[in-house]
Amino acid sequence: MKELVVATRNRGKLKEIQALLSGVVENVRCAADFPDLADTIEDGDTFQANALKKAREAMLHTGLPALADDSGLVVEVLDGRPGVYSARFAGEGAGDADNNVRLLEELADVPPGQRQAAFVCQLAFVTPQGEEQFFDGRIGGTILTAPRGERGFGYDPLFLVDGYERTMAELGVSEKNAISHRGQALQLFRTFLEQER
Ligand code: IMP
Repeated sequence: MKELVVATRNRGKLKEIQALLSGVVENVRCAADFPDLADTIEDGDTFQANALKKAREAMLHTGLPALADDSGLVVEVLDGRPGVYSARFAGEGAGDADNNVRLLEELADVPPGQRQAAFVCQLAFVTPQGEEQFFDGRIGGTILTAPRGERGFGYDPLFLVDGYERTMAELGVSEKNAISHRGQALQLFRTFLEQER
């Protein structure tokens, strides 16, 4: 595929997406390349609804096939929160550090055996011809009581990956991409492009 716009302003995500699509998409553009592209209001109740809305708006604005990701952290004992509110868990305009503090506060009294969580990712791919496709991924883990690791973004330093003795923030970029929720969804998207185009 020649050109694709990825509807994100999150540099962490963009880096992961570019790495995973290298070789199948010649030119991966992003929201920052289109200054007039307004931020989508993410008011959906599900990751799928938000991803689709972002992809449709980016496609309509640019006229290019568009890929959007909506992802977040789902914590069992919090009944799935922060979920679609992951980016603003600590309030509108909150940063990663604020969100991590809020998560630790909410889990302060939760014992180690009950801190299961998952990162989930929903990708929506929309073309100017009206095609709409979805791809998803999920990875399980446990929320630690203190951050570990310097890499990644968001909740990575608090997320101990199931089956590993490391947090997401202690994995290298290619290690994270190979197993992460977004990595799994992008791998499905990559295979779709390889087969269909
Ligand atoms: P979105 O940009 O609306 O999809 O919000 C995603 C939010 O979920 C991010 O701001 C992070 O807080 C969290 N998140 C999603 N994917 C990851 C990840 O790979 N690592 C850590 N946090 C993530």
